[in-house]
Amino acid sequence: MFWDEGVFDPQGNPDPQGDHDWMIERATEMFDEIDGGPGEFFRLMVECDLMDLKNRASKAGGGFCTDFPSYGLPYIFANFNGTKGDVEVFTHEIGHAFQGYSSREQPLHDYLFPTYESCEVHSMGLEFLTWPHMEKFFGGQAERFRKIHLIQSLLFLPYGVAVDHFQHLVYSNPEASPDERREMECTYLPSRDCGDLPHLPEGGQWQMQRHIYLSPFYYIDYTLALTCALQFWVRSRADMAESMAAYVALCKRGGDAPFRELASSAGLNSPFEAGYLRDVVQQARTFLAG
Ligand SMILES: [Zn+2]
Repeated sequence: MFWDEGVFDPQGNPDPQGDHDWMIERATEMFDEIDGGPGEFFRLMVECDLMDLKNRASKAGGGFCTDFPSYGLPYIFANFNGTKGDVEVFTHEIGHAFQGYSSREQPLHDYLFPTYESCEVHSMGLEFLTWPHMEKFFGGQAERFRKIHLIQSLLFLPYGVAVDHFQHLVYSNPEASPDERREMECTYLPSRDCGDLPHLPEGGQWQMQRHIYLSPFYYIDYTLALTCALQFWVRSRADMAESMAAYVALCKRGGDAPFRELASSAGLNSPFEAGYLRDVVQQARTFLAG
């Protein structure tokens, strides 16, 4: 059922095995073990107090990365709540921050960060490139975490496309009925069962997605980027050093080129080419069957 979608097996989701300070220590170890400079960068984030990750009363929700270009330093914000989401948000925002820091020498301000579909390659890419280190956070539950992370990512692709399609539908046809919206949702999310919940099964699911209200046509960027991050996942399983080197080089470029050019420079297939996910699907099938 719809309300079970956040739980992936009967054991429930794995949680990180310590609090905020413990996680920062584990993360410091993790980044020190990764080639390409994230260790030095992460120590700088800690020393300069560039992270606000603890949950506290009256703090705004959400997670994001911003930067102080005059200082060449990024800043990340999150709300740890003791779930696996803490690790996901953390590695995601650190991916953005590492890219911002890596491209701080770019000559133009607009080159510091690329457009969003490229930005999310750095964040989601790091989520996958840190996979071999997840034992630090989850101990014996790390393999379950990896499996869930991959499943969530694959399930996100059709959902992300549905959100984009919804916007095309309603902007080109503002009179589109709830039934037409529902039909479109079913195309992408045929297995979603909202049971007897009010409103949602009647074409109202779009109201759960704040990007539709706040950032028109942004959502597809997550899916474009995720297809690239998944390619980093496949490559890193064959050769981590090669993937990390390509990732670091991509981060350094910041936004000095458009999406397709950045992607191809990192050896990533463009999501606009047919068959570009073949390797990802094959690898995912093998991994999830194991
Ligand atoms: Zn992001």
